[in-house]
Amino acid sequence: MSVEISFHGQLNSLLPVKKRNRLLTVEWKGKRSVKDLVESLCVPHTEVGEILVNDQCVAITYILCDNDRVTVFPVSLPGPLGMGDPKFICDVHLWKLARRLRLLGFDTLHDPQWDDAQLADISQKQGLILLTRDRGLLIRRKVERGIYIYSTDPEKQVKELLQRLGVRGLTAPFTRCLRCNGFLESMDMADQEMARKVKSLVPGEILKWANEFHYCPSCRKMFWKGSHYLKLLQKLEDYLLL
Ligand SMILES: [Zn+2]
Repeated sequence: MSVEISFHGQLNSLLPVKKRNRLLTVEWKGKRSVKDLVESLCVPHTEVGEILVNDQCVAITYILCDNDRVTVFPVSLPGPLGMGDPKFICDVHLWKLARRLRLLGFDTLHDPQWDDAQLADISQKQGLILLTRDRGLLIRRKVERGIYIYSTDPEKQVKELLQRLGVRGLTAPFTRCLRCNGFLESMDMADQEMARKVKSLVPGEILKWANEFHYCPSCRKMFWKGSHYLKLLQKLEDYLLL
């Protein structure tokens, strides 16, 4: 069997360098689907949009015939993922991206203990969008909702994702704990019980000047608007005004 295949747009950056931006001829023996062929060239199915075979649109499960001409286009998001209220799971390396997504209020799981099999499993069972720069992870059978993150810089990764998903309008900054993903509770200092809680968890020095506090019931931490807060505000402005 021999087919010709070409990739469009940013899919080329996923291919081995020598195979980018050109018509490739691939030969093999036996039965093979487009999905299998595409993934053998290091392009995960989660990044693939429309596929043409001899100028006809086909499904990714299409079984190839001898001399087929295959053209593969990148997925356009949001589309098949249905981005109503996106929830994410980040692989072990993308912890900085995970914290930034939580800052924006997106439900984002991350645990450095999870291996590839667990990430794929949790993503599938909970319908979470798996974010990774590992093409091998996205190629796993269980991964139904996944996005390859092209950038290596965490700030650019956030912008890339917001742009690709078109979810800038769904952000809810400062509503989640950056450490654990829990929902933050706003502390009302006029409420005696809340004020007592704040005083028990915040150093006296801080209490002298800080007046707004948020509590994370999941990790039992109290947060206040210090110098770190201003840095986070600048980050948010950068992400949302891009
Ligand atoms: Zn927390």
